[in-house]
Order: sequence, then C-alpha cells, then structure tokens
Amino acid sequence: MSRFFKLTELEPYVPGEQPANVDQLIKLNTNENPYPPSPRALAAINEEELKKLRLYPSLDAKGLMEAIAVHYGVSTRQICICNSSDETLAFMYHGLCPEGAVFADLTYGFYPVFCHMFGIPYEEIPLREDFTLAVEDYAGKKGTVFITNPNAPTGLFLPLSEIRRLLEQDPNRLVVVDEAYIDFGGETAVPLLKEYDNLLITQTFSKSRALAGGRLGFVIGSEELANDMNTLKYSFNPYNVNRVTMLMGEQAMRDEDYFNKTRTAVMENREWTRQQLCELGFTVTDSRSNFLFAAAPGMSGKEYYAALRDRGILVRYFDKPRTKAYCRITIGTREQMEALLEATRDILKGV
Ligand code: PMP
Repeated sequence: MSRFFKLTELEPYVPGEQPANVDQLIKLNTNENPYPPSPRALAAINEEELKKLRLYPSLDAKGLMEAIAVHYGVSTRQICICNSSDETLAFMYHGLCPEGAVFADLTYGFYPVFCHMFGIPYEEIPLREDFTLAVEDYAGKKGTVFITNPNAPTGLFLPLSEIRRLLEQDPNRLVVVDEAYIDFGGETAVPLLKEYDNLLITQTFSKSRALAGGRLGFVIGSEELANDMNTLKYSFNPYNVNRVTMLMGEQAMRDEDYFNKTRTAVMENREWTRQQLCELGFTVTDSRSNFLFAAAPGMSGKEYYAALRDRGILVRYFDKPRTKAYCRITIGTREQMEALLEATRDILKGV
C-alpha cells in the first residue's frame, strides 16, 4: 500500500479464478454460461461497427433500451443501463443507501465490500439453519435491503409473495432485488413495480445472455429511481457501456428463441446433475440458478474443490463456518457435467 492510499481498511472482493489455460480446464467456478452468446449478437459485430469505436457510444442506447423494455413490458424511462450489475450495485450502495444497507449473512460477497468502499453502515441478517431467508427478520430494519434472488451461493429462490411482504414492511425503505440468476427458474419481480415504488431490480447479461465478457447490466424501477441511477451514472461515467457490447446486448435480448433454448438446456443439466450428485450421497440445495451448492459426503468443500482441481475441473468453495462443507458448481454443458460426475466418482472411491 502506498502512503497516498486513503481506504486503508479496504479488502477487495476476490473474484473466482480466471486461469490462462482455460481451454485445458473444465471451468465451473464463476457461473458463466457454457454456451456462446446468441448468433444474432455475434452477427451484430463487423468491421464497420468496429471502425466506429473511434466515436463515443450513443448516450440514449435506443435499440438496447427498447429491447429491454419490450422484453419486460416496461417503459424505457424505467431503465438505466450500466457496465455490469457490479456497477449498478456500486451506484446503489453509493447513492441509494441513505440509512445504510441490510442483507443476508450468506449472499453475494461483494455487498459488504461496496459498504466498506463507500463508508455505508450495514447489517448482515443470518439466513435460517436451512439457508432460507425469513422475511420477518427484516421487519424494523431501516437500511436499504439487498436481496439476491435466487440467492448466491445457495441458489434458493424467494417467492414473489415474500418479496411483496418485504416491500410492505416499510414503504419508505428501498428494496433492491438482485436478479443476476433469475432466468434459470425464478420469477422476476418486475410485475411488482406496478404496485410498489420502493422496489429496484438489477439484472445482468453475464449469465443467461452469455455476455459476461461484454460487461452489461441494467436496472428496472420507477421512473424516479431510474432517474436517480442515471444521475449517479452521469456523475461517474456517462459512457459506461461500450459500442460493441451495446449492439450485442440488443440482439441477445431480442433473440428470445436462443435465450429460451440455452437457459432450458442449463436448467435440464442442473436437474440431471443434481439427481446424480444426490445419488452419490451429496447434500444439494434446491437451486433455481445456473449453479449447484453441494456438499460432498465425507469431505470438506475445500477437499472436494482440491480433488476436482487435480482432475482439471475448477469449482468454487467458500471457507466460512456455515459454508465450508459446500462447493458451488456452475452448470456447464452435459459433457462437462458428465466429466464432473466421473471425476467425483473417482474421488469418492478414495474417501
Ligand atoms: N449479483 C450477483 C448475485 C452475482 O453473483 C454477480 C456475479 N458474480 C453479479 C451480481 C455481478 O454480475 P456482473 O457484474 O457480471 O453483471
């Protein structure tokens, strides 16, 4: 640390490994989509478009905004696009937490990092023993509530009736629903926006639209909240989404067939893998995400992680008291999941 650094206590978020020899590994550690982006998204990029990179991107992002608005049945005035949902979240923690923040003890690990970064007081509410979130535990809490739905790393989905209860606990408290994984079997809270103006939803193109490397996220909320998000964005980096990503994102959003085909394949692979792991004696949560949260019989998450790594398969484990038995396994193609199971059977022989 240099003597000029101000945030001396800051501990940055630790992302999942991105190894250089990725082609030699089965990479199931960062919840990326195993399938490529939509062919329509790929076709949107050509030399003419690349030459336009000399220009700043369009500020109104008309095509992309309209594609999102049509898909969700909202007005473009309710949307703000950003460079990833990590960025939408950063803006929210910076500017939309007037009384601090409240979130689960087991959820997206970036939330407390944002709080430290922006000096936001926060409270972590423990999930119940079975990793479910009890809405009554949030009653009377004043800070902006952040709910990852489905949750990470557990994959558990909180029904909209429960989100509704959270919103009704205090109409003057903002509830942010982080729907990074919503398209793999959850149900979006967007329809609730018609009834509640204390709701803000953040989504990403990184998972179900297979554009993690493009960095594209967005929020949907009331026009006032979308305006606030734009104020934050225009006070930081108005051109936060690059031209290439904007074009690809628009087509990825419009290509409903490809979206449905690939997310269905991921969900089918998830259910198949879950069943196989259960048969091998694993404890596996009922994930509605593109990953499984699974505890191997007779070994810790760290041991299972290391044994898989020795066999060229990368997953993620979280060495915390409540999660140390588990690994988070991203759902890949059927071939990748078959390889995971073969390696797992081999590992279990030695236990
Ligand atoms: N929210 C959750 C719950 C996540 O797991 C992730 C991905 N790690 C993000 C947001 C951020 O996604 P991105 O920045 O790629 O849009």
